[in-house]
Amino acid sequence: MRGLRRGVAPRVLVDNAERWTKDYRDSGSARPDSRRYAHKDVRRALEDMSAQKCFYCERALKPREGGSDAEVEHRRGVRPHELGYLWSNLCLSCKGCNSAKKARPEIAIEDTLDPCDEAVDPMDHLDAHHEYAFPLRGSLQGAATIKKLGLNTQIELLLTRGRCLGEYWRRRGDRIAEAAKSSALSEEDVVAIERSLAEEFARAELPFSWMFRALLRLPGALSRR
Ligand SMILES: [Zn+2]
Repeated sequence: MRGLRRGVAPRVLVDNAERWTKDYRDSGSARPDSRRYAHKDVRRALEDMSAQKCFYCERALKPREGGSDAEVEHRRGVRPHELGYLWSNLCLSCKGCNSAKKARPEIAIEDTLDPCDEAVDPMDHLDAHHEYAFPLRGSLQGAATIKKLGLNTQIELLLTRGRCLGEYWRRRGDRIAEAAKSSALSEEDVVAIERSLAEEFARAELPFSWMFRALLRLPGALSRR
């Protein structure tokens, strides 16, 4: 999870949220209308915020046109009714994180990290060991987030994260071998190659950038397999 900057609400929400909220309250239905809160303009604004990644796990999400596996979800739920069409409550989530989140009602969402809270950097609470997430320095918020969203228990997510890390190891080997052709490499040279490659993987628009940012902080984590 990386910190995200939430821009201004899409026009369609600004113009309609009040009326839609009233309709939702009057209808007596359990949930707001997904054709409204997941309007294409809302979805596009959320996709732009996260470079089309899940707000929570940073998995890459397919574009809408290609049969999206992204869900517009309500971080704090849909009650009171005002939350149904509230811009700050709408997030882009993969199915895995959305299901994991719903399956853990005993963990309050308020106790977890909000990627859009600009006052809190999720990276101050999350650490990585290989492809596994850990709370940084015992952060309770980090621990609650990992548990609530199943960041270490969604098997497909772990496999995908493992493959992403595997790609780093493969390219690290290639890059070191290439550099060693022209001159003998010192230990510092190798570390510099590793860090520069990991910085590339840690770019905010790439999947699991949090993991590489965390590994960059750990001495030796980019050198060990
Ligand atoms: Zn996710």
